[in-house]
This record gives sequence, C-alpha cells and structure tokens, in this order.
Amino acid sequence: MSWDLYLSIVVPVYNEQECLQGIHEEICRSLDGKYTFEIIFVDDGSTDGSFAVLEKIYQADRRVRVISFRRNFGQTAAMSAGFDYARGQVIVPLDADGQNDPADIPRLIEKLNEGYDIVGGWRKNRKDKTITRKIPSKIANIIIAKLTGVHLHDYGCSLKAYRHEIFENVRLYGEMHRFIPAVANWIGAKTTEIVVNHRPRMAGKAKYGLERTLKVILDLITVKFLGSYSTKPIYVFGGLGIFSFIASVLNGLAVLYFKFLHPRPIAMNRNPLLILTAILLLATIQFVLMGLLAELIVRTYHESQDRPIYTVRTFLQRDEK
Ligand code: UDP
Ligand code: MG
Repeated sequence: MSWDLYLSIVVPVYNEQECLQGIHEEICRSLDGKYTFEIIFVDDGSTDGSFAVLEKIYQADRRVRVISFRRNFGQTAAMSAGFDYARGQVIVPLDADGQNDPADIPRLIEKLNEGYDIVGGWRKNRKDKTITRKIPSKIANIIIAKLTGVHLHDYGCSLKAYRHEIFENVRLYGEMHRFIPAVANWIGAKTTEIVVNHRPRMAGKAKYGLERTLKVILDLITVKFLGSYSTKPIYVFGGLGIFSFIASVLNGLAVLYFKFLHPRPIAMNRNPLLILTAILLLATIQFVLMGLLAELIVRTYHESQDRPIYTVRTFLQRDEK
C-alpha cells in the first residue's frame, strides 16, 4: 500500500442528522493544514435524514467518503467497515455526536509518534449518566484491564489513534471495538493512553443504556478465551474434563467405601454420591467431546477469516487507486 494519505478519520453514524455538519466542521478545523486526511462516514442504517446530510457533506468536501449500510449493524460493524476502507497510515475513529473532541486528534498523533501502535483516549471527566453509564463502565474497565493485561482506564472511548497495520490482524465482532487494544496486544502492539476532552452530545439521543454492559461482559469472556486458548480450546475443556473425572473417581471411591468398608444401611438409598459420580463421569465425557469439537471449529475459524460482518449498500468515494 502506498501512503498518500496520513490520516483516516472514521465516524460511525446512526441517526445523527443534527450533529453531522457540526462534527464535520470541527474535524476540518482541527486538522486543516496539519495533516493530509480523509473522513469516512459510515452510515449504520440510519432511519432519519443522516444519509442525505452526509451526501451533502460529500458533495462539498473532496476529502469525505461515505459508506452506507443496508441496515443497522451496530457501532462495531460501522467502525470496522471504516477501518477496512481507510487509506491513511493512521486511523482515528470518532463519535458522530460530538462527544469526542476533534481538537484532541493532534495530541493523540503526537503521542503515537513517540513510538506506539495505539493511543487510547481516556475520558477522565466523562459527560454521561452516572448510574447507567459511568459506574458500570468503571467496573468493566477494571475487569478488562485485569483479564486482558492491557492497562487502560477507558476502553470504551471511541477516540483512539491506531497505526493502520494493526488492522491487518484484528477482526471485530459484537461490541468488540473496545477490545481492539486487547486483541492487538496478542500481535504485540504497543498501547498507551492520554486524557481527552469529553462533552455532552450536540443533539440527538444516546443509543445505548445499561444493557450494553452485559454484552461487554460476554465479549470479554470471548476475548479472554480467544486470547488465551483460541488455538488450543482442548486445554480449557479438557482441563475441566480432567477436573470432573478426578471428582468422579473420588466420589466413586467414597461410594465403594460406604458400601463395603463402612456400611450404613439406612443412609445408602439416600446417598447422593453414586448419582454424583455418574453425573461427573458424564460431564467428563461432555467436556472432552466439546473440547474436540472446539478444536475442529478453531481450525475452520482460522482458515476462513476474510468474511466481512456487514453488507454495504452504497459507497460514495472518488477514483480508487
Ligand atoms: N452508533 C452506530 N451504530 C449504532 C449505535 C451507535 O454507528 O448502532 C454510533 C453513533 O451514531 C455514535 C457512536 O456510535 O456516533 C456512539 O454512539 P452513542 O453516542 O449513542 O454512544 P455513547 O456515546 O453513549 O457511548
Ligand atoms: Mg455519544
């Protein structure tokens, strides 16, 4: 890839018609004269007038490209599409609602050029609802840092700067855009963070509530599992299998002990140990078989990774090189 462009700004858009002009102007104001850049707006199946506004912005500014999805695929898919089509050496995603401040971009890039692959934004002074957003997010961030071994204060902040190469090896699913640093860590990316500005929305409504925390927790389990065992799932399932096998044998021995060496005629027919032995033995077989199935799946998974997670309806862009 030849790098004519330095910077790709990726903006996921879902029903943000009132914010788009404003955020476009702000981005241009912060970057004009500093870098060569493009702005990729990804319309994530908006049902308001967002696409019409984007078309207008596209007509007026040659640096703008617009991808429009057939339906709403979610913020991660939208960002992922932007990353796929980005042509800049550095990629910076940014929310369309104005909560991230484009004025922070030059500082992120400065930090990146100190020799990092990813610079995260830390919304230290976050302007969101405390109970449904800030507290769950704080707890989630601590757990994510512990489990993934990448130490950031704020995984959820969209505003980050990435070296383009990172995405050659990172694929995103679910709500996984927040785990890019964790996933990139597997391929040895260097990550740091700086404090960024955070503002209330310019207009429109937040698209998420408390329910997202649940998805994040499930994604975290996936990430942890994939990160540690994706090439050897049998280690996890087989490990559980061995554990339940040992428990089953111990139980079985206890059953024999009570039957022959220490008979307790009254208790025996109520003794759960025999049933427990059988259940644990079944669990052992299940775990081992599941491990073997997972091994099969993992092989398919690693060999079929270039399937996109979205379908594109239209794609406004100028002459492709
Ligand atoms: N977004 C999207 N698809 C969705 C939901 C949200 O592209 O299904 C975009 C949205 O337009 C915004 C960004 O993702 O640019 C963050 O969304 P929001 O501001 O609602 O989330 P919050 O800032 O509350 O985390
Ligand atoms: Mg927002």
